[in-house]
Amino acid sequence: MSKKVLVLADVRDGELRNVTLESLAAATKVAEGGVVTATVFGSNAKDLVEKLSHHGADQVVLVTDPALDQYTTDAYFQAFKQVIEKVEPDVIFTGHTAVGRDVSPRIAARLGLGLISDCTGLELVDGKMVFTRPIYAGKAFVKKAVREGIVFATIRPNNIPALEADTSRSAVTEELDVQLEKDSLRTLIKDVVRKTSDGVDLSEARVVIAGGRGVKSADGFKPLEELASVLGGAVGASRGACDAEYCDYALQIGQTGKVVTPDLYIACGISGAIQHLAGMSNSKVIVAINKDPEANIFSVADYGIVGDLFEVVPMLTEEFKKVLV
Ligand code: FAD
Repeated sequence: MSKKVLVLADVRDGELRNVTLESLAAATKVAEGGVVTATVFGSNAKDLVEKLSHHGADQVVLVTDPALDQYTTDAYFQAFKQVIEKVEPDVIFTGHTAVGRDVSPRIAARLGLGLISDCTGLELVDGKMVFTRPIYAGKAFVKKAVREGIVFATIRPNNIPALEADTSRSAVTEELDVQLEKDSLRTLIKDVVRKTSDGVDLSEARVVIAGGRGVKSADGFKPLEELASVLGGAVGASRGACDAEYCDYALQIGQTGKVVTPDLYIACGISGAIQHLAGMSNSKVIVAINKDPEANIFSVADYGIVGDLFEVVPMLTEEFKKVLV
């Protein structure tokens, strides 16, 4: 049966995050011929319509209030709720990102809906949507379906492939004048201070080079940064490296950090504690570099290199440069 599906666009630095395109692919799959609507917030929302329509949106609802230029819980909550009331979707998707993780449970609670969070896969079984999501910190996966009512889910980045861009598509655009109760907006963003480099976003990166306490200092991250730049990837870290102040906590991967599922994860000087594995063990190919042949990280690695990371990482960089640069 055809369904109306609504996707909340996740915007960072004026650009759509990939997870929005991945959510549109999921939306197209479950719509079964119904209308896929994307909603995008902020004063530059119009600039994003083309990309949304090329990747599956049939309709785009723009909310251009400048109060939505930066994410704040209250403003997004109010705007998103009004869009949902207008579109009356059967299915709602957001990215499982800082934005989606914050706004979705609030909306679900307010509208009395269930929420299936952190979905890594989606299939249609006898016309019913069945979502796959991790449990026990990524050690197992469970399949879930909603018995009745609106289906609401957050989609984990890098798991559901985006559709190829179809430049012949163009979406119907509508501007919605939402009413934000300005007095009830409890947060005012005055400045955004970036703690990560401007390059590839860690949670969406296809390649992640992660350093642990084995990098020994902030300078020890430099060879990892060079390898990441040759491979077009992002640098991440274990909590051990963050606790030792070699890097910012914004880079932390794991149970209490970011969850990443890149195509290639290279762990350098990371022992492989269970809390770290919770954030990266679903990566498609894992390479571990560690001096200790007994290190637990080798238990999840597809390729293991027993050696000193300060010798191995520069060698890898040189070899990749020969074929890539
Ligand atoms: P270590 O365990 O000290 O390992 C360093 C490794 O580097 C060793 O295996 C060593 O052999 C190797 N090494 C040293 N020198 C070199 C060299 N020159 N070349 C190659 N290898 C070398 N951790 C996380 O990562 N993410 C989390 O989200 C997280 N959440 C946590 C939540 C809770 C509630 C708790 C209790 C802990 C959490 N931890 C988390 C911490 C976790 O338990 C580990 O302490 C941490 O992951 C260890 O970091 P590490 O592997 O970098 O350091």
